[in-house]
Amino acid sequence: MADHLAAIYGTEKDKVNCSFYFKIGACRHGDRCSRKHIRPTFSQTILIPNLYLNPAHTPGCTMTPEEIQLNFDLLYEDLFMELAKYGEIEEMNICDNVGDHLIGNVYVRFKYEEDAGKAVDSLNSRFYAGRPLYAELSPVTDFNEACCRQYEDNLCTRGGFCNFMHLKKATSSLIKELHRAQRLSIKILKPRGDVDDEDDDLSRSRSPASRDRRHDRRYDRDYDRERDRDRERDRDRGRDRDRERDRDRERDRDRDRDGRRRTRDYDGR
Ligand SMILES: [Zn+2]
Ligand SMILES: [Zn+2]
Repeated sequence: MADHLAAIYGTEKDKVNCSFYFKIGACRHGDRCSRKHIRPTFSQTILIPNLYLNPAHTPGCTMTPEEIQLNFDLLYEDLFMELAKYGEIEEMNICDNVGDHLIGNVYVRFKYEEDAGKAVDSLNSRFYAGRPLYAELSPVTDFNEACCRQYEDNLCTRGGFCNFMHLKKATSSLIKELHRAQRLSIKILKPRGDVDDEDDDLSRSRSPASRDRRHDRRYDRDYDRERDRDRERDRDRGRDRDRERDRDRERDRDRDRDGRRRTRDYDGR
């Protein structure tokens, strides 16, 4: 019996749990759904609902498709850079559906659950483009399952009101560039390129210091406020990143006397 329930969990055969919420992270019935929406306590994926406002959906929009794509790419880049501050992003997807429960939904899958949790906590006290943000952990793990297959083949007859994800794609070269920049900055922040790097990553992310920091909400809020002020003062994100990297390098040098040589090697000095 337990095996059977586990096998059908979150599928259409499951009469208790909502398959839409489980697969897509949102269902058109919302809280009134007759099936359960079980919110995850831990997840790699976060959902920021209704964030992207596609100008094309505004009546009388005069923007060309190229302008709309450019506008979308700018938003995608901005969000990616902002959210990557919480941890490594594996995938970021934005819905172009028009139904209330899916319109403009942003889904971000982080590499580590811990970072997703951190992002949700922090985003809920922040604003984006003058609007308060709301974020939640999402059960979505497999975007192939969540996306409308017909839409990808240009065959979806339900249009924007489809209950599966219709993703708006950012320009592919931009996505590649963002992931490349992310890989590079992770490398710079963790210059010890040993084989054990993966283990090292995990032990570091679970160190008592990082746990303490995670639980110290006040610290996070202050840090956020300070960072937001910084961002307003100088919009040059490169300078912020450099500063962060320098701080990290200093920390690494202190921590690992032996690492000095390797840091120098990395810099090519
Ligand atoms: Zn439901
Ligand atoms: Zn569809």
